[in-house]
Amino acid sequence: MNQLFRSLPSVDAVLHALAARPQEAASGSRSRKDTPPTGNDAASMPRAMLREHINAFLDICREEIRAGVHSSPEALSLDALLPRLTAYVAAKSRPRFRRVLNGTGVVVHTNLGRSLLAAEATRAVSQACAHYSNLEFDLATGERGSRYSHVEEILKSVTGAEAGLVVNNNAAAVLLVLDTLCKGREVIVSRGQLVEIGGSFRIPDVMTRSGAILREVGATNRTHLKDYAGAINENTAALLKVHTSNYRITGFHKEVPLEELCSLGRQHRLPVIEDLGSGVFYDFSGLGMGHEPTVQQVVADGADVVTFSGDKVLGGPQAGIIVGRREIIERIKKNPMNRALRIDKMTLAALEATLRLYTDMDRARREIPTLAMILATPDELARRARRLAARLRRTLEDRATVTLRKGASRVGGGSFPERDLPTTLACVHPASVSATELKNRLLDTDPPLAGMLLEDAFCLDPRTLTDEEFKLAAGALAQALNV
Ligand SMILES: *Cc1c(COP(=O)(O)O)cnc(C)c1O
Repeated sequence: MNQLFRSLPSVDAVLHALAARPQEAASGSRSRKDTPPTGNDAASMPRAMLREHINAFLDICREEIRAGVHSSPEALSLDALLPRLTAYVAAKSRPRFRRVLNGTGVVVHTNLGRSLLAAEATRAVSQACAHYSNLEFDLATGERGSRYSHVEEILKSVTGAEAGLVVNNNAAAVLLVLDTLCKGREVIVSRGQLVEIGGSFRIPDVMTRSGAILREVGATNRTHLKDYAGAINENTAALLKVHTSNYRITGFHKEVPLEELCSLGRQHRLPVIEDLGSGVFYDFSGLGMGHEPTVQQVVADGADVVTFSGDKVLGGPQAGIIVGRREIIERIKKNPMNRALRIDKMTLAALEATLRLYTDMDRARREIPTLAMILATPDELARRARRLAARLRRTLEDRATVTLRKGASRVGGGSFPERDLPTTLACVHPASVSATELKNRLLDTDPPLAGMLLEDAFCLDPRTLTDEEFKLAAGALAQALNV
């Protein structure tokens, strides 16, 4: 074992070798021409940092020697270690936050960044961050302006609401609305709507944080209008409806329709708040996925305040959108908490561009990636899956067989729960490793590739990959199956 330890190169020898062979240092493990260099590699790294990475790598080798992984000194020579070492350094020097290919078929994948922005929106973001702007400057008067003015008009015209406001995300929107309208007073909500929305984030906890007192009514599966009516007292501040986004109750189940809740609210002069979660402007009812009310419908049905996310099915940037009655929105705007929850200029730019696309629904469905992916037809997906499979076969040759199979995509983001969107999957059956092993290796490719395990195959859904990404996906699979 001592002999094995002694055959490890010194840090200086490695540094010297990397300096002498810069092309190797620069390419790292990325021997495949499919993956573009990132400019973050050993060749461009400060020496002290490079030294640290080399030390860490040699420590890994020492651990392996102790664990009996290596038996011959030759395997530990500088030449033998160099390819693995450069790959290690390249991996360490990549940005932590990076692009991932989404082959999962989950369109609004919260862990992978939810919605992709339309080209118009990314252009707007890049303008907003590269240049000064009229963020809070009124070009009509030359005086100070309001950042919210840029999106309020368009929100009003798309949703039909009297006024609107945007904040950091929908959780912030709910918090701000309750803090403004219900602090220290009661808000009545159905037990069936006290939902957890992910990351152990619970609506009831957000509400309690606002200082509102939660008054739960009804049963988990059924709540009636008389339950709400019976709970109203002099300390009631509002009636709240929460969209049960991420789960679906079937069977013996009843929720009070919004119109009925609104007429009860009007009788008692109480505002009705609806937290829609993933608000939609586009009417998906033709898709056969059940009825999902649009924001326009909810506003028309009489909700006084409606909150929803910018980056779920709406397909914009992360934001919380609040629309509703002018008098209420004005009070919300004046809440000092609003300042702590405000959105930044990049988000605002992306949001305005996205909202503008919605003034023409045909344009919206073509240009907003989230909508285009949800609305992709089974025929189109089958055609694209065939093209993806053909490319994978060409790239992977005898390292895997590739088959096509019918599958199901999901909208995700807590929208349309338990509703499948029919699709065709390209499934990779690796020749020498298990599909699970392949899936794990793909976490470490450049770029990483996320997909689905189905029986013993690693499957990709073309719904959430662009045609341009087929090539990158094939490249990632090649990297994963080469080693
Ligand atoms: C997703 C969701 C939220 C939180 O929205 P974020 O934009 O993630 O903050 C709140 N309420 C409901 C019902 C949701 O589905």
